[in-house]
Amino acid sequence: MTGQRALLAQHLQSKRSAFSVEQIRTDLPSVGRATIYRTLKILVDSGALCKTQLPDGSPRYKRDDPAHHHHVVCTRCGNVEEFRHESVEQTLSSIESDLPGVMVGHRLEIFIICEKCLKAT
Ligand SMILES: [Zn+2]
Ligand SMILES: [Zn+2]
Ligand SMILES: [Zn+2]
Repeated sequence: MTGQRALLAQHLQSKRSAFSVEQIRTDLPSVGRATIYRTLKILVDSGALCKTQLPDGSPRYKRDDPAHHHHVVCTRCGNVEEFRHESVEQTLSSIESDLPGVMVGHRLEIFIICEKCLKAT
């Protein structure tokens, strides 16, 4: 079990682009699904991995810069990119006075069909 964990952790470290649980299962068939989910949860909770979702609810994971950012997600291939825009942050903080409390965070995902997928059609 510990060996599986180490193998999995090492594999996740090497991933640069977004991935799904199914991809990890294909890459590492010897590692059990429960171990994958448990490890991913620990990494997401500790901030080492970002978790985002496609519009159908299927999760994608990615290693990102830990600074505040949003995600641009391709709904066809599931690729995830980081997105930062100052005017988005300003707009969101400007609505704080209209909220029934103090804003402690926000989440924003933008869904696209990426250029690679557009070219493939
Ligand atoms: Zn991210
Ligand atoms: Zn795409
Ligand atoms: Zn933001």
